[in-house]
Amino acid sequence: MKITRIETVAHPSGLLLCRIHTAEGLIGCGETHYIPTAVAAVIHDWMAPRLLGADALAIEGHWRFLYERAANFGARGAELRALSAIDLALWDIKGRACGQPVWQLLGGRAQDGVRIYNSTGYGRGQTPEPGGTWPGYGRMGVPEPLNDYWNALHEPAAYARELLAEGIEGAKLWPFDFAAHKPNGSLFVSGADLETGMQPFRAMRAAAGNRLELILDGHGFFQLPMALRIAAAMREVNPLALEDVIRPDCVDTIRDFRERCGLPLAVSEMLTTVEDYRLVLQRQAADYVMIDPTWVGGITATARITDLAQAWNIPVMMHDCTGPLTLLAGIHVGVARANVAWQETVRMLLRLVYPELVTHLPAVKAGRIAAPEGPGLGAAWHDTLFKKTDTLRVSTR
Ligand SMILES: [Mg+2]
Repeated sequence: MKITRIETVAHPSGLLLCRIHTAEGLIGCGETHYIPTAVAAVIHDWMAPRLLGADALAIEGHWRFLYERAANFGARGAELRALSAIDLALWDIKGRACGQPVWQLLGGRAQDGVRIYNSTGYGRGQTPEPGGTWPGYGRMGVPEPLNDYWNALHEPAAYARELLAEGIEGAKLWPFDFAAHKPNGSLFVSGADLETGMQPFRAMRAAAGNRLELILDGHGFFQLPMALRIAAAMREVNPLALEDVIRPDCVDTIRDFRERCGLPLAVSEMLTTVEDYRLVLQRQAADYVMIDPTWVGGITATARITDLAQAWNIPVMMHDCTGPLTLLAGIHVGVARANVAWQETVRMLLRLVYPELVTHLPAVKAGRIAAPEGPGLGAAWHDTLFKKTDTLRVSTR
């Protein structure tokens, strides 16, 4: 099963789309998000010489080789994102070669689908806001179908009732981001801004009672004193978890925050290496481990981190606010592991954006997203995405 061709497309959404072809005609699809042009360079300039002509089924060997070569030079962002895209494509090929979905190859079904919470996502197709393109800043946008960023902040009670009516049991929002975006916002959140941020949470709790779980994402904006101030306010609405209210770049400070705030913490999609997660678990800094499958090194690394969390008896949340194969990768590991508690989904992405990108998407029923049944990842990039594009790069042998 020799690799003959690697293709990437730097998509305007910030996604890096990847396809790996084999001599037998199988095509595996992969993805990562953020700095796609830099990631494409890592793949074509640095990883392709290892992969072209090699066995597509030797996933672990390729993963270790590429990871270790990169890690010896401080691998973090672009390298692990590139490895993630490659890893997904190789698992996709292996699944297609075996005629089985990836979750079967990871050990088989440990749970029927994964419980979802709806994340507020972002506005689509409107005039960009200043700074709106920075990662983690999002765009409030304008009222438009399924713009749940807008809905959560402007019509929170109706939004909460709508999610419940759909059978969705959790919602994540980020109503303190506006305060962080003010000058020195990570250092000071005024009492008035605190009230503004709490308002949607209070309205959703009042509308939904205890039937809807609430999660706050702080996008890593705040330093310890303001993170504690926000957490103290959040106690009123009994959140399921606080995610990245404090910047996750110092494990000891996260642990300090966890001990002092007395609320469950999800830590953190902003981490990238298995070693990052080992430290978080060993220092007892997390109530949930949160993983982005295409930032940490793909399905291989996601399963490894999920198993590491299981050793500490800690549940996992899977991140997706970016792309369809990131979502699918999270579900494949989530179905094959009993400690994956929640899968993040975004209604707008799942219903309006992802169908423009991939051939299949898993169904959501009664608040759970189903295990993909097709071979491999269970979906492929639309072929048109790899045609007539000036951001297509190809390596062949
Ligand atoms: Mg987040």
